[in-house]
This record gives sequence, C-alpha cells and structure tokens, in this order.
Amino acid sequence: MSSISIWKDKAEESFFSPLRHDITVDVAIVGGGITGITAAYILSRAGKKVAVLEARKIGEGATGSSTGNLYCTIGSPGLHNVKSKFNHEKIKEVVESRAAAVNFIEERVKEFDIDCDFKRVPWSLFTEDEAGKSFVEKEKKAAQEAGLAITENFSYPWKVNEGFTVENQAQFNPLQYVVSLAKSIKSANCSIYDLTKVTDVEEGDVCTVTTAGGKVTASQVIMATHSPKGIYAVHMNMGPYREYAVGVTLNGTYPPAGTWWNMVKPTEHYSMRTYDTSKGRILMVLGEMHKVGQKENNHECYETLKKYLRERFDVASVEFTWSAQQFKPADGIPYIGLSTGNSKTYIATGFSADGLTYGTLASMIISDEVLGKENKWSDTYKASRITPIASAKEFIKENVNVAVEFIKDRFTKTEADEFADVTIGQGKVMEIDGKKHGVYRDETGKLHVVSAVCTHMGCINHWNEVEQSWDCPCHGSRFSIDGEVLEGPAYTALNKVIV
Ligand SMILES: Cc1cc2nc3c(=O)[nH]c(=O)nc-3n(C[C@H](O)[C@H](O)[C@H](O)COP(=O)(O)OP(=O)(O)OC[C@H]3O[C@@H](n4cnc5c(N)ncnc54)[C@H](O)[C@@H]3O)c2cc1C
Repeated sequence: MSSISIWKDKAEESFFSPLRHDITVDVAIVGGGITGITAAYILSRAGKKVAVLEARKIGEGATGSSTGNLYCTIGSPGLHNVKSKFNHEKIKEVVESRAAAVNFIEERVKEFDIDCDFKRVPWSLFTEDEAGKSFVEKEKKAAQEAGLAITENFSYPWKVNEGFTVENQAQFNPLQYVVSLAKSIKSANCSIYDLTKVTDVEEGDVCTVTTAGGKVTASQVIMATHSPKGIYAVHMNMGPYREYAVGVTLNGTYPPAGTWWNMVKPTEHYSMRTYDTSKGRILMVLGEMHKVGQKENNHECYETLKKYLRERFDVASVEFTWSAQQFKPADGIPYIGLSTGNSKTYIATGFSADGLTYGTLASMIISDEVLGKENKWSDTYKASRITPIASAKEFIKENVNVAVEFIKDRFTKTEADEFADVTIGQGKVMEIDGKKHGVYRDETGKLHVVSAVCTHMGCINHWNEVEQSWDCPCHGSRFSIDGEVLEGPAYTALNKVIV
C-alpha cells in the first residue's frame, strides 16, 4: 500500500534545476502548485519576466494531494452559509468566477494538449439518511439562487435520501496538469526552479527574495504557497485542517464517472470519485477532516474511511492512502490579492478544499492586478478586506481554539517524562530544562530531539503519528522529525537539539 497520492502513479516527474545564482525578474512567484504555475503562465504570456521558486517539486504540495475535482460550486461551508454572511450577489459571483476558472483549465488542456485525463462529469451532493438532509436542502436552494442549473431527478448509483446534481463539471489528474503546464511554459521569460526554498522576502523599493542558491530581485512577489510564508493578518482568520484519502480496487461494479459528495455528518461530506491507474480502476474516498495537530490517533481516520467503503462496496484491495491540508477562511471566501493596500506582495489563500479552481481563479485575478487590468472579481476576494461581521463567529471559534492550544500546551505542568518512555516510531512532547521539546525515536532506536515551539508564532507542536511529523495546531505549520519545514506559514526550521 502506498502512502503517496494516487496522481503520482500516472504523472510525469518534474525536473527543473534549483536556482544557483542571483537573478532579476518582474515578478517572483513563490510556490509551484496550481496557483503559482498558472500565474507564471498568464504573466509570462503577457510579457512579464517571471521566476517560479518551488521548495520541493512542481505540484507536490496540496495540488498533488487533492482529489482532482473541478466544480463551480463550493464545499464547506456551502453556498448557503456564504450567502448568509454576505448576500445572494456574492454567491452568484463565486459561482460565475469559479466557472470561468474551470473553463480556463479546460482551455489550457486543449492549448498544450495536456494528457491529464480532463473530462466533464456531473457533480452531486447527497445524503443517504437524515444526517445531512438539512444541509443538502439549503445548498440546493442556494445553488439555484446562485444561477446553477441543477438536476433533481438524477439517477444515483446508490440509495439517496436527498440530493441534487450539477452537470458538466470536471475532473483531471491535477499533478499531471501542473507539471505539463510548467514544462510547456518554461522559456527565457519564465524560469522555473525546483528544490529552491524561499527563506525570506524583504520589501523595499524592490523585493528581495532569498533562497540558498541565490537572491531574486523582483518588482512584485506572489506568495503562491497555499498559506503565505511569514506572518500575515489572514493567518488569524483561517483554520488549518487535515483530511485523509483512501483509494481501493473493487470486485465488480464501480460507481460511474462523477464527483460524489455524501453528507455523512450534518456539515461534513465525504468525496468520492474513480481514477484509472496502473493498479487498475481505483475508487477513492476523502474525508475525516480535523484541525491540524488536534487528533490524538489519526490512524483512525484511515480506518473510518476504509470501513465506510467496505460497508458500501465489495473492496478487493486498499492501494493508496494519503493525507493533505486545507485552510478555511473565516467568512467562507478566499483571500486573493495584495496582502495590504501598500504591499508589493500578493497572497492567494483560504481555498478550503476547493483550491484547484480557486488557485486558478486567484492567478487570473492577481495577474490582472499585476498587469494593471481591471478584474471584475478582485473586490469579492480582496485579501485585505475586513469583514468583522461576516467573519466574527468563525474568527472567534478559530482563535479561541488557537488561544486554548497556546495556553494549554505552554503553561500546564507536564510530567518529567524520561527519554526511555519514547518507544520506536513514537513522538512525544517533553519538558527538558524547563523547555518544551519534540522527542522522536526512529526505527534504529536513535532519538531525534527538536524544539517543540513552532517558529511561526510560538505555539507548541503536536505529534502526527500517521505522517511522523510535528504539526502546529494554531496556524498549520508542519515540520519533519528533524525540524525541517514541511508546509504551512513557518519559514524557519525548528531548533535541533539531537538529530
Ligand atoms: C484532501 C484534499 C482534497 C482536495 N481536493 C480538491 C479538489 O478535488 N478540488 C479542488 O478544487 N481543491 C481540492 N483541494 C484543495 C486544493 O488541493 C488546494 O487548495 C490547492 O491545491 C492549492 O494550490 P496552491 O498552488 O495554492 O498550493 P500548493 O499546491 O500547496 O502549492 C504551494 C507550493 O508552495 C511550495 N512552497 C511552500 N513553501 C515554500 C517556500 N518557502 N519556498 C518555495 N516554495 C514553497 C510548496 O512546496 C508547494 O508546492 C483539496 C484539498 C485537500 C486537503
């Protein structure tokens, strides 16, 4: 069984050299996921000189761990909740702008003949029982108000209590799309660097972007890093969540092509779809979301998803399991554009689990702003917006939770655990010399000890047993057993004590 996402099975490798000297460009793009690569495409086509700086390999962030579904509507919190925070014009804009982004992706697939299994499929939201009925009913009404043509009497491949379908949505292999797009656009005007981690961005008359291999001087910077690196106001307005995926083969019949969202809880769905791989056709299910660093036994998440599949299908084998992160905005709308009115740094974040479309849309909006062109959706998604009323409930909820995590972990008395208590493969936060440390014992018995204090804003990291990482429960930064940044807003590695 693999612990990497299904898309790698059929995607080409990305092979871009790291940056090894200083360069000057018009726009430095930090992050080579769908947001960064799409922005690089638009801006370089418009005559800007751009450089994409990717810490790992193109597409290997959230893009390569997503479900590959493209749709005009949204997942959590649902159109009806966004409408209740704003108005019905807002959800019309959301749906219209997202439809434009899905079409944009389809056009790129055609333009570059990208072999990423793009196809138009129906998207359905349903519930099997009473659990999610109220959500589905409200969402159906909101979808209609937002201008979506819905099909009510869809023929579902299983028993459905309440549901509706929107036809002509889409699916693809997101990793293959992004890697192919990156390869197609690389040119003198558009340089792309893998294995090039940005460690600092400084704004002055120009922006200076620091990497180990060289400095990039740019007039503007786009932080296409899923959550912007460093400290930004939006971090206080977003909740970081992890979600899990399981891919299985079946004996017998698979569900037809489509995006199937089953409301398994009153406000939470599982997402299902199929994809053909070298291991045969795979049915995948994604769900079991929880706040980063706040699930004690996260193996349970995979087990719950497997049980869900086994109860409904004749599962032959489990072939893929993986997990990924999403950032939920307080008012249900992503943050896209300049981080503050007078900044030179654009951000694109708060996509929830809808960011293949939102990331594409973000790059369309930001590119227009960089090029000085009007974009009719700029205001809707403006990153520097303040929506105290729309965000209030979620803001308080997320930040009470952050405050609780901050205080709970720092100031409660901890037991003076012994290193000997840490068994093979286990990670534990321990107090050593009055300071919190993350202690991990690897399979050879060697201890890896790092500071447990997140380098972003000082919360105490928690151990993630499934992914063997130190995860910050406050703003979602994640670190390896030796303290290296894996994802999230932190720039700097954890202090190493023993590695
Ligand atoms: C389980 C799950 C399923 C999902 N399924 C869907 C779906 O079906 N449809 C949908 O629309 N959305 C989905 N999403 C959401 C979607 O995956 C993301 O919103 C989207 O991929 C974000 O793209 P991005 O380019 O902004 O970020 P990423 O793809 O994460 O790209 C950011 C890049 O920045 C790089 N980076 C980070 N720090 C640095 C640094 N210091 N220097 C240089 N580079 C750096 C990272 O390595 C990464 O490659 C899902 C999310 C989850 C969690």
